[in-house]
Amino acid sequence: MEVYEGKAKKIIPLDDGKAIMEFKDDATAFDGGKKAKFKGKGWLNAQISAHIFRVLEEKGVKTHFIGVAGDNRLIVERLDMYPLEVVVRNIVAGSLKKRLPLDEGTELREPIVELYYKDDSLHDPMINRYHARVLGISEVELKEIERIALKVNDILRKYFAERGIILVDFKLEFGKNGRGEIVLGDE
Ligand code: ATP
Repeated sequence: MEVYEGKAKKIIPLDDGKAIMEFKDDATAFDGGKKAKFKGKGWLNAQISAHIFRVLEEKGVKTHFIGVAGDNRLIVERLDMYPLEVVVRNIVAGSLKKRLPLDEGTELREPIVELYYKDDSLHDPMINRYHARVLGISEVELKEIERIALKVNDILRKYFAERGIILVDFKLEFGKNGRGEIVLGDE
């Protein structure tokens, strides 16, 4: 695997199944169409990410997080990533307003899990389980991804609520490790 440079991070493979995840100071919007740099953003994002992974690991969620390696770098387990963005929503905001007749800020009666196909050239379209299966992701894998996503939501929702923060929605990415287990990668 070569060094992969995404919009917000760089993945530098190590030779033992691990990788360095470096958080950049770049901020992007509209699939990379709009860009800016903020000094310290990479550091802050790495700290937040490490903290969230520790909270999740403590509650028994398998994540790619191994440790911190300097200011804006984490050591992670290298995963074979699913080309999916998994969004969990608790409160109506953003694109959900165009899908359901609910006002912004409405608390959902149960969380919504959405799947998006990760492809900037297609603008990450929302897909359903049929599309995912055609992409080669089995029903068993989808169920496991959904189960972990909802567990992460339960844990983080409580964690943030105890600190006065409302968890409106968030995005996760998953991959398979060398042992064939489905593991939480990006958050
Ligand atoms: P986006 O910003 O929309 O998530 P991107 O591809 O630009 O897309 P970055 O966050 O900049 O994303 O880069 C991180 C990349 O590394 C993503 O493509 C993600 O799927 C991948 N990735 C995350 N965790 C791992 C891992 N443990 N092993 C291998 N690749 C990973």
